Amino acid sequence: MPYMACIVDELPALRVLIAAPRGFCAGVDRAIQIVEMALERFGAPVYVRHEIVHNRFVVDRLRDLGAVFVDELDEVPDDRPVVFSAHGVPKSVPAAATTRGLTYVDATCPLVSKVHRQAQRLIEEGRHILFIGHAGHPEVIGTFGQVPAGSITLIETVEDALGVSVPDGTTLAFLTQTTLSVDDTAQIVESLKTRFPAIRAPRSEDICYATSNRQAAVKAIAGECERLLVIGAPNSSNSLRLAEVAERMGVPARLIERGADIDWDWLGRPATLGLTAGASAPEVLVREVIDALRSRFEVTEEVADHTPERMIFKLPRELLPDQAA
Ligand code: SF4
Repeated sequence: MPYMACIVDELPALRVLIAAPRGFCAGVDRAIQIVEMALERFGAPVYVRHEIVHNRFVVDRLRDLGAVFVDELDEVPDDRPVVFSAHGVPKSVPAAATTRGLTYVDATCPLVSKVHRQAQRLIEEGRHILFIGHAGHPEVIGTFGQVPAGSITLIETVEDALGVSVPDGTTLAFLTQTTLSVDDTAQIVESLKTRFPAIRAPRSEDICYATSNRQAAVKAIAGECERLLVIGAPNSSNSLRLAEVAERMGVPARLIERGADIDWDWLGRPATLGLTAGASAPEVLVREVIDALRSRFEVTEEVADHTPERMIFKLPRELLPDQAA
């Protein structure tokens, strides 16, 4: 038998350093459970105003179970229940639902509701609010909708903080969106405090624990990574911030929605790749990305535990089994 050379191409080695905590936060977990429980309680279809959380995979799965996603309340039939998304809604939305006699369940994250209550209290105290956030984000629209028009001003950048004008004698306070960059927000707050030394700060941080922890976990691994992938939707604020954190530390980062989105040319052949997921991205997508990496690399996985999380939020009483009619 003639001698036959058998050449097997070996896959290049890749260490995948997986940030922890990553992925679902307690608010997203709760919002998804609320839709699932509403489907059990009321049967399909259950209407959901806006994406319940910013993740297509999650939305598609709930749609398959019988959820119908709509942009506005007037698309909801009178005889069907509606769920409001985790980002929160302006006061006018539950008010309109009540007027129409709709059954509604509010899946607003309790940490967003906390900001809503703070805003209302500050207005009652006669203050004008400077709100640090991103224009057009549903959470910002929801928070602005808690207070009278004209009583709150959006501040997106340090330049906005330096340029904002308020009438003499206005007593000020600031609040922030929950999913901002910790570092950018600190700079904006610093500028506001320098310009307006008497400005009232929130009693505790408005940027939520999940946003801060995920950013800190990326910072902790960035120094060891040549590239970093963030799993999350392009409209997910906290996911975008994770990519920014890595880039600012000099690590090229990409936001991808799933395994099929990996740009192999951009990825190249790093020795160590960082991997994380935004607060609305399920763990199944992390596994999917790792499987995609395994098709081209000999992957070794390593989880870099940063801050353990134990946060759980209570579910709305009206959905709990002992509240059944
Ligand atoms: S990211 Fe923070 S504020 Fe948003 S749902 Fe999660 S815990 Fe709540």
